Amino acid sequence: MKNFDYVIVGGGLAGDSAIQGIREHDTQGSILLLGEELHLPYDRPPLSKKLWFGKTKVAEIYLHPQHFYDEHGVTLALGARAEKIDPGAKSVSDSNGSTYRFGKLLLATGTRPRHMAIPGGDIDGISYFRTLDDFQRLYGEARPGKSALIIGGGFIGSELAAALNISLEVTMVFPSTTLCRRVFPEPLGLAVQHHFQARGIRVIPSDTPASISKTGERYRTETVGGKSLETDLVIAGIGVEPRIELAREAGLEVGNGIVVNEFLETTHPDIYAAGDIAFFPYRALGKSMRIEHWDNAMVQGRWAGWNMAGAREAYTYQPYFFSDLFELGYEATGEVDTSLETFSDWQKENQTGVIYYLRDGRVKGVMMCNLWDRIDAARELIRKGERVSPESLRGKIR
Ligand code: NAP
Repeated sequence: MKNFDYVIVGGGLAGDSAIQGIREHDTQGSILLLGEELHLPYDRPPLSKKLWFGKTKVAEIYLHPQHFYDEHGVTLALGARAEKIDPGAKSVSDSNGSTYRFGKLLLATGTRPRHMAIPGGDIDGISYFRTLDDFQRLYGEARPGKSALIIGGGFIGSELAAALNISLEVTMVFPSTTLCRRVFPEPLGLAVQHHFQARGIRVIPSDTPASISKTGERYRTETVGGKSLETDLVIAGIGVEPRIELAREAGLEVGNGIVVNEFLETTHPDIYAAGDIAFFPYRALGKSMRIEHWDNAMVQGRWAGWNMAGAREAYTYQPYFFSDLFELGYEATGEVDTSLETFSDWQKENQTGVIYYLRDGRVKGVMMCNLWDRIDAARELIRKGERVSPESLRGKIR
């Protein structure tokens, strides 16, 4: 059995950022990073954005070159899935039969794509898009003139539809009435949907697949609403679920993610969690939640690294996220959730402006559409938590 001062489980952004965090407080301690994928840790946002538009090449998405890990005294075990944690012995065993003892452990195991529980939902070839391997396979298959059905109208569905639309015939199907319904108020979702349609994307809202079959190289998708769609490719982005099994089996408190306190510690004092998997107290919002976005993974991973190395600083950061869908680019922070009351302050209807998300008269989330570098103003509004009338927000952020 090998001993490490720090073992990081998960080779995504949160796990990788923890290396930097640890090294900012401890330049000597030994670090092991266990990653299930064979690739060096890489950045995920380009997989559904820049890589498709030729703005970035695969070689550019790696977070660091190999020598970074050598120089920072990090042992990499890639292609190794952590399979069991023994919290008493403070050890972790992996799928390659190795067992490592840890001083501090970080769980940054992220999420996995949800699969469709329908006949044919797991036919070989359907893309449940998430990883670099998924990107490389789809990129190889997405040849000009082919057709693709995209299932789901959330982040993955809408970004990939915009990307594939360059050279493929794209159809989207999703259960809600308008695109990105969880984050866009209906009028904005409808406006974006019209842009998609103007670009030639066929959009089928308020419907879901009932079954999928494959004959030769073609898929046939029958929908609940009675449509029959034949395409060369089927891609599903119907949400993700946190990978909590390891933590649950180790007896850690889990729910919608791994429960951590403000120091990102789980219910075991030497085990931490960060990134998509962590159910953490979001101080400015006054509630615990999980966040499945890039900026949170990056900062929270680093923060967990500090605390593992002895810093003990409460996580007070307010992460943001961003997306680009043809003419609409946006940045957003807080609870960006249309089940809250929303107030839209447009400078240009459904194009340029700010959407506020309020609960009990307090701003909990802000989305800035085609307005940049205003995240700090939005953060402050949320942090202050003052009671406001929606109308008084007009012109607040411009
Ligand atoms: P998502 O944003 O939660 O969207 C899921 C979509 O699938 C929604 O449109 C949902 O409809 C639909 N859906 C749910 N069950 C369905 C079913 N059985 N059949 C058909 N459609 C169904 O999840 P995602 O797009 O898969 O993205 C995965 C993760 O990647 C998320 O964590 C996201 O935050 C992250 N991501 C983030 C970004 C970014 O920050 N820009 C970009 C890409 C990915 P309803 O809404 O009507 O339920």
